[in-house]
Amino acid sequence: VIAAASAHSGVESPAARPLAAVTGAELQAPLIQGGHVRYANLDYGASAPALTVVSAYLNEILPYYASVHRGAGYASQISTSVYENARNIVREFVGGRPDDSVIFTRNTTDSLNLLAGCLPAEDGRYLGEVLYLDIEHHANLLPWQGVPHRSIIAAETLAETVNNVRAALAQGGVSLLAVTGASNVTGEILPIKELAALAHEFGARIVVDAAQLAPHRRIDVASADIDYLVFSGHKLYAPFGAGVLVGRPDWLDAGTPHLAGGGAVREARLDSVSWATGPARHEGGSPNVLGAATLARATQVIASLDNDEWHAHEAAIRTRLVDGLKEIDGVTVHQIFSDTDPADTIGVVNFSLQGYDAGLVAAYLAAEHGIGLRDGRFCAHPLLKRLGLPSGSLRASFGVGSRLEDATRLIAGIKALKSDGL
Ligand code: PLP
Repeated sequence: VIAAASAHSGVESPAARPLAAVTGAELQAPLIQGGHVRYANLDYGASAPALTVVSAYLNEILPYYASVHRGAGYASQISTSVYENARNIVREFVGGRPDDSVIFTRNTTDSLNLLAGCLPAEDGRYLGEVLYLDIEHHANLLPWQGVPHRSIIAAETLAETVNNVRAALAQGGVSLLAVTGASNVTGEILPIKELAALAHEFGARIVVDAAQLAPHRRIDVASADIDYLVFSGHKLYAPFGAGVLVGRPDWLDAGTPHLAGGGAVREARLDSVSWATGPARHEGGSPNVLGAATLARATQVIASLDNDEWHAHEAAIRTRLVDGLKEIDGVTVHQIFSDTDPADTIGVVNFSLQGYDAGLVAAYLAAEHGIGLRDGRFCAHPLLKRLGLPSGSLRASFGVGSRLEDATRLIAGIKALKSDGL
């Protein structure tokens, strides 16, 4: 049975599969049928609905309900094997180096907070600053406010922004460059390989927040020379509750244990402790075995997609949305950089409708047209302010289960709003 459970979660390289085979027609159906109208889920950027393959896997491993590393109990052995295999699967998914630590966390936010506790320090003094741009999600901004840091404002073009990052790094004193792989606000992709090379040129490391990038693009940590990568399961077609931090073990093994408690120690005494190294150091307490296992299962499914078909599917929806929205009087589609290539944008379209409050538009679209999208400031207050959107905008985001008709429906909904009013 243990062998069978391990085989389920073992690293496989399945042949490329068409999207329909992995998403299934039921993917969105259980969410909201709306009586007659299929729910048009354009909110994948917030959380992507779990794939049918992933929920089936959850049901498969659910009976072996036991915590990990808790002795030789039958179910515990299976759980341990599933959990430890999940690390290998995730390492494989991100193209990690053999000695990279793969630490399971609650989500991206948790992973970045964990890393903030592992910045190099000597005698209680930090050995450098964290450098970040103003375009970041709060998860990749607020953890750094508790440590020495420096922020820079993104320029009008991406090319200029990269130059500004270079200039900031050249001033010296940066230990870590923290950057998003893709903006959660506009979907624009950052050149992480180039930024990693820049960071290394000036003696710094890089952490990439891949919460948005990982569900849309293949990432290869080793070949892009990325030191740390973080993402969340719930944005990658897995259930809520599990995230991951992958990266170089030296800082992580020397850092402050993220959760002090059982499992994180080599030896505990009444008033002192020798901490473990490796992932255990940061995973005190009973871990989210089901979360880690389903996250790993989702990465296998995503890795099995045909790259061209996957990207063409999302690009077609994006093109229809952007073209359709731009034709509507009063609609502005927002982006950070004037020189972004549309091909370097994930399945996100950010827009606003002149004269209408974003929250009311989102509520109208949900109630009248069965469309789910996100409104507000997207946990990126500094960026929204700089984009001239202090009271927020609208974000349509999509993924493997989305359909072209979802984009068509949104465009029709905005047109109906303009002609009929709220
Ligand atoms: N980083 C980015 C770019 C995000 O889009 C998000 C979530 O929206 C996060 C970090 C935080 O993710 P989580 O809430 O899963 O920690």
